[in-house]
Amino acid sequence: MAEHSDIVIAGGGPVGAALALGLRDSGLSVTLIEARVPGAAVDDTRTIALSHGSRLILERLGVWPGLAAETIPIHRISISQQRRFGRTELSADEANVPALGYVIGYAALQRALASALEQTTVRVRAGCAVLAVSGDAEGAVASIDAAGTRQELAARLIAIADGGAQLDIAHVKTHDYRQSALVCDVASEQLHQNRAFERFTPDGPLALLPTARGWSLVWTVQPERAQQLGTLVDAEFCRRLHAAFGGAVGAFTKAGRRQIFPLVLKCAGPPVAPRTLLIGNAAQTLHPVAGQGFNLGLRDAWELARAVLARGESDPGGRELLNEYFSQRRFDRIATILFTDTLIRLFCKDIPLLNGARGLGLAVLGAVPPAKNFLARRMMFGARG
Ligand SMILES: Cc1cc2nc3c(=O)[nH]c(=O)nc-3n(C[C@H](O)[C@H](O)[C@H](O)COP(=O)(O)OP(=O)(O)OC[C@H]3O[C@@H](n4cnc5c(N)ncnc54)[C@H](O)[C@@H]3O)c2cc1C
Repeated sequence: MAEHSDIVIAGGGPVGAALALGLRDSGLSVTLIEARVPGAAVDDTRTIALSHGSRLILERLGVWPGLAAETIPIHRISISQQRRFGRTELSADEANVPALGYVIGYAALQRALASALEQTTVRVRAGCAVLAVSGDAEGAVASIDAAGTRQELAARLIAIADGGAQLDIAHVKTHDYRQSALVCDVASEQLHQNRAFERFTPDGPLALLPTARGWSLVWTVQPERAQQLGTLVDAEFCRRLHAAFGGAVGAFTKAGRRQIFPLVLKCAGPPVAPRTLLIGNAAQTLHPVAGQGFNLGLRDAWELARAVLARGESDPGGRELLNEYFSQRRFDRIATILFTDTLIRLFCKDIPLLNGARGLGLAVLGAVPPAKNFLARRMMFGARG
């Protein structure tokens, strides 16, 4: 007979783990299935800019105290375009918050969530891959590969949080940006002073986020150029970065190991199987511009947990609850996808007429407090800010 849990979460990345934590006091049995083997290091050099809104959620999940010491607060964000006029700066003081956001390593975030989960009754099955899910009006089933043995897990709800990796249960619309994000640690002559930079270039945006070691770089370029930049010796890489970014932080003095992420926008429709839903990157995978992906996925996890908790111990996979969740998340999802996609379409094309208009737009944004406030709130809280 298949093992049973009220809720199975397929994927224990940061979004799946956050959902499991949000459900810890639900009175329901929850099983989290994660493909990575127990104790394996997370080989991912990306850093995540957590928004102020995400900090509030992580506080409610009880994770923030274990995380705070590893984060670097962002006090100012400078937004500009390469070799063109127009620039705007957002500041925590003006937005009246302690920080506009917080930078944390992806691996450190995963560790903090995993260690918080150890204090709960959530059953974590690491080293198990979910192969397929199915569902009907009565229940859902996840087929898993547990160290070479195929097993079935029955549930009332299966939340898929596999990062959009494999599970094929919904129609997914995709748009290939034909860009890759090259990610690595860099150091510069000037200290970061809790500043972050987003600089738009015709190839794609280039972001610098403050870290304990200097900066975390996310440099978006065409895939072939990313591969080429990835193989350069450090000194030459630093020189090219300086040429692309300019002198706002002085010369770059060090570059760490480089990782490359292909960038494709993915937007999944509702799953075909009843009693299943998608959250985080499984539901939508965004361009990393403006650091919105995890922040949006965390709101998916938080809102789903709240919807389940609000119904007490009644059926968590019932159609009413799922419909309510979809319609509640729709606006935030669509608005955030449009926000990031529009930034790329608008700012990363070298069209002379557009260059002037964009510069003007950035200058106006910097000078008009309500417009600036709108942008700051969008970065901090998402579409419902
Ligand atoms: C370069 C870059 C920079 C970014 N910067 C930011 C930022 O500053 N701010 C921000 O908010 N977002 C950022 N993002 C987006 C962010 O990384 C993602 O939105 C976030 O990681 C999504 O989390 P997730 O848990 O949904 O998916 P993932 O992080 O992909 O985790 C999925 C998990 O599921 C597991 N898994 C996969 N398949 C299976 C299976 N079949 N069975 C069981 N387990 C499985 C995987 O092992 C993994 O642990 C960035 C993305 C990139 C590429």
